[in-house]
Amino acid sequence: MRGGHHVAAVSSASFDLAAGECLALIGESGCGKSVLASALLGLLPGNAQTSGAATVDGIELLGADERTLARTVRGRRIGLVPQSPAAHLTPVRTVRAQLEETVRALTATPRRSIREAAVAAAERAAFPAGHLDRHPHELSGGLAQRAATALALIGDAPLLLADEPTTGLDRDLVDRTADELRRHIDDSTTGRALLMITHDLAAAQRIADRVAVMYAGRIVEITDATAFFGDPGPRHPYARGLLAALPERDFTPIPGMPPELGDLPDGCAFAARCDRAAARCGTRPDFTAGLACHHPVTSPEQEPDGPPPARQEPHRV
Ligand code: SF4
Repeated sequence: MRGGHHVAAVSSASFDLAAGECLALIGESGCGKSVLASALLGLLPGNAQTSGAATVDGIELLGADERTLARTVRGRRIGLVPQSPAAHLTPVRTVRAQLEETVRALTATPRRSIREAAVAAAERAAFPAGHLDRHPHELSGGLAQRAATALALIGDAPLLLADEPTTGLDRDLVDRTADELRRHIDDSTTGRALLMITHDLAAAQRIADRVAVMYAGRIVEITDATAFFGDPGPRHPYARGLLAALPERDFTPIPGMPPELGDLPDGCAFAARCDRAAARCGTRPDFTAGLACHHPVTSPEQEPDGPPPARQEPHRV
């Protein structure tokens, strides 16, 4: 950044994802979810630096040059279902024209069959054939979402990356969009994986197999979705706070605000908001066995509203 200032937008993110599996990456706005998605697609700003490795279908993404990313990754190895699909679609071209162009670019379909392939692509995403000659501004939010999904599926990419795919949709459409995404990864013939970046926990609960929680640029917990949303629930205090903030649960917001990514504390970044914080939290917890926390919740009795946790260290964070 200007003045030689560095921002650690994403650090120590580590996860895997199998064909037929949906991993929901959740967290508050600004926690680094979309930066992580941009890194996988090679779409970070020019001043961004990356290290480590991210491999999809045998291709290392972080070290790949632009030519490799454009010709073999975007659309072919990773299909992007974008945030705000209406804004992602080209406004002056019909859905049909955009589908045909994408079929031409990503597949070896003979010229005479391109129109037919575009119709088939629309059908796969449940986009109605009767709306193919409409422009994006003539589509409802749900249809724009389906058009964007149809485009994302054309290259038969093994990984679908859905970046906040339900933003701005009403509850009914959220459910339908989530179910459609799930349908595409459950299709045993295509063997896709889905990385769904979202702050919509209801959508994540509906379709995810596993949940990764991100806070201040770091993944702080990865766990099975059934355990996360049900019993015993997440172990990281921040993840528990996210669930407790839901209107259908306790409707209790997490106090305070996330720290600035350019000004993170030396210890746990959640400490200032955490009612389990203790002296040890002044050092950053490592991510081990799916969790980064010195004093995770281990049983219902250790809930903040229940009996106090066993540790009685002074709060000096
Ligand atoms: S490491 Fe400490 S401050 Fe951070 S979430 Fe765990 S208990 Fe809270």
